[in-house]
Parts: sequence; structure tokens; C-alpha cells
Amino acid sequence: MAKYIGPLCKLCRREMTPLMLKGRRCLTDKCAIKHKKYPPGPPRKRRTKLSDYGVQLREKQKIKRSYMLLETQFKRTFDEATRLKGVTGENMLILLERRLDNVIYRLGFASSRLQARQFVQHGHVTVNGRRVDIPSYQVKVNDIVEIKEDFKTNTMLEDAIKLSKAVGSVPQWLEVDYEKRSGKIIRLPERKDIEPIFNEQVVVELYSK
Ligand code: SF4
Repeated sequence: MAKYIGPLCKLCRREMTPLMLKGRRCLTDKCAIKHKKYPPGPPRKRRTKLSDYGVQLREKQKIKRSYMLLETQFKRTFDEATRLKGVTGENMLILLERRLDNVIYRLGFASSRLQARQFVQHGHVTVNGRRVDIPSYQVKVNDIVEIKEDFKTNTMLEDAIKLSKAVGSVPQWLEVDYEKRSGKIIRLPERKDIEPIFNEQVVVELYSK
């Protein structure tokens, strides 16, 4: 699967939003967006107002980059969302939340979505007892997601769990058992469970053109 390999903090600075792509570092004063409060690139004399298209494009990039997806992967999720009943923008966010790599991140078993994706791709994760190495796998209600036995004492995993316990960031649609390194999907995510910084409606407008 193709992936972004450029500098992560630049993505946050481009969107002028902390997208939390680097785990523990994002919570410290080393976070680039805290001391470089301007977009990357040559300095501009004055800020120009974004057009409607510009606003829509930036919002799409913000959501896409938060989940660390490339354009085709993101568009595929959007297309799937349009085929579901309900509000397309919300469906899109819910499909993104239900990705297995995101669930590993939300459970606190990885300190960033990128690290979670690596854990999944390297075969360290099971769903209902079976190894699943597809990051885009969609979890369902009552699924049990678990870290494989031989990875349960991994240092990166333990670090991530420490961070998650300190921040207390596991959402209500998930139930975590840190000791067993497992989690359960107790219900599907809803819009209120997802970051309010996203304005998914303008992404729908962008793709509807
Ligand atoms: Fe973004 Fe984290 Fe870098 Fe801050 S430290 S700019 S939140 S990736």
C-alpha cells in the first residue's frame, strides 16, 4: 500500500491544526505548530482569503491527513459513504473511524495512526482470534480486537498504553482491557464521538462538483 513518507509536522502546519500525527511529541512543547504559527513555505506578506473551493480543499486535506490516507484511499471511502443510507459526510467519518488501524490507535495500543497501521500490517493484530493485516478492515459491533501474544510486551506498545492511560482518550464506543491488550467494539461510532474540528459537509460539497 502506498504511503506518505514526508515530514509529518508540515502537514499540521499546512492545515494550521494539530493533527496529532506523532504521538507523545504532539502533547509536548516540541509540537511544531505551537511555535511555528504559519504555513510551511516562503513567508507571505499578507494572508489572502481562501475561495470557497480553497476552504473545501483544505478541509478535505485536513481529514485525509488526520487519518493518514492518500487521495485514492480517501476517495474510495467517500464513494462508499455515498452508497450508505444517512448523511454522506457523517457516513464518511464513521467509515474512517471503523478502520482497524484507527481502532488500534483509539484503544491506545499505538501512539499514532501511522504506528497503528504498521502494527496491523506487520501482523500483530487479531480480530475475533484471527490475524488481520489489512489496515482498512472495517470493525463491527461485538468484534474483539487483540494484540498478538508475541507482541504484547513490545516497548512501543507499552509506551502507547502508558500515554493512553495518562490522557484517558479511549472513546465511548470502545471498551479496552489494557492488561489483556484487547478491546471490544460495543457500538458503532457516531458523529459526536469524532473530533469536532472536522467540517465534513464541505468535503461533500467538494466531491459533488
Ligand atoms: Fe502535528 Fe504532532 Fe507535529 Fe504537533 S508534533 S505539528 S501535532 S505532528
